[in-house]
Amino acid sequence: MTQPPSAAAREAAQELADNCEHVETFDELAARIATGKRLNVKLGLDPTTPDLHIGHAVVLRKLQQFVDAGHNVTLLIGDFTTRIGDPTGRNTMRPPLTDEAIEANMQTYAKQAGKVLDLDRVTLRYNSEWLGKLSFAELIKLLAQTTVARMLDRKDFAQRYADGTPISMHEFLYPVAQAYDSVALEADVELGGSDQLFNLLMGRPYQLHAGQLAQICMTVPLLEGLDGKHKMSKSTGNHIALTDSANDQFGKVMRIPDEALARYARLAAGWSQAEADRIAEGLAAGTLSPMDEKKRIAEAVATLYHGADGARAARQHFERTIQRGELPAEIPERRFEGVRTLVDMLVAASFAESKRAAQRLIAEGAVKIDGSVVTDPKAIWDTSEPAVLQVGSRKFVRVLPEKG
Ligand code: ATP
Ligand code: MG
Repeated sequence: MTQPPSAAAREAAQELADNCEHVETFDELAARIATGKRLNVKLGLDPTTPDLHIGHAVVLRKLQQFVDAGHNVTLLIGDFTTRIGDPTGRNTMRPPLTDEAIEANMQTYAKQAGKVLDLDRVTLRYNSEWLGKLSFAELIKLLAQTTVARMLDRKDFAQRYADGTPISMHEFLYPVAQAYDSVALEADVELGGSDQLFNLLMGRPYQLHAGQLAQICMTVPLLEGLDGKHKMSKSTGNHIALTDSANDQFGKVMRIPDEALARYARLAAGWSQAEADRIAEGLAAGTLSPMDEKKRIAEAVATLYHGADGARAARQHFERTIQRGELPAEIPERRFEGVRTLVDMLVAASFAESKRAAQRLIAEGAVKIDGSVVTDPKAIWDTSEPAVLQVGSRKFVRVLPEKG
């Protein structure tokens, strides 16, 4: 590759690099595109939780861009690395997952990723395929290729080491295993969120050592969670799941702080940087209404996973129930047998996890029957007529009278 890449190759590379936080390196990407070869592109997902969320969608959408450009895209399910647990951003070791939990999470991953990715044009692989076969002797050779100092370059490891928080030896294996994945797949490009940069970069020396070209590492910005501050992550519970209903997705976006709107416009709705800037400026100048912009973004997010009609219905639901304090058009109907108190009904309807939690909700004034707040924690449940039970502004059930 002595020729500088053509303008067309640079333009194609620029489109792929758009909205990335870091590209190592852009020139290599342009040069590799210029060869005209389909690039091997890899994204690793660890089945640590049952849900993918709209933060994962940021990097999944970037991966889909490579699919659309005709490259050879692999979604790598880290069934083996999950046993180690990615130490990235952690201040303690991860609790290990059982094989059953890993298996169960894996089942749902491909399906959920399919909400963003065209799975017909993506290859699914599992890294147990090669990592499970490595012998101890081979592992030693891999470990010899890196150093403890290199590991302690990582902020999270360095911090834990400085704090005296234990780092188990096996945690050092995670980046090595991920690097070896790149060797096994002969990756030209690896994608990840920006928290993954260290792990991604590890692949480069390992590939060079294996006689391959070093992969190009591309990271996307991390979407903040509902608090607008911390990385959206299942473990913090500040996430919007890809499988959440349109109403839930809409409602959750409406809860983010105004300061997070421009980020959500770009990373959650997938709008351009220019549009995100326009929103940020409009909000700062007071020429745009935060409520209107939030609804627009919430609708765009719900549209990605539920289509335009589903998203519009979610917006109407929100405007009717939350904003005007009315009931939603469709309320699920359920019948319970033998429930005699409001507390028991809240538990039976799964609106409270325990009787104690139910009593707390009642005391807080969060519980309504047919639109009227009930504050008596000993209230009985009258079963003769259908009644709408409501908790907060988003949970509704129409309870039908008992049969017979
Ligand atoms: P955990 O918090 O348990 O590490 P995770 O949400 O980071 O889970 P991973 O499977 O480790 O999930 O991440 C898969 C890919 O998705 C990684 O490249 C990661 O950087 C990216 N990713 C995860 N969360 C976000 C987010 N909030 N915004 C953008 N990318 C994300
Ligand atoms: Mg992670």
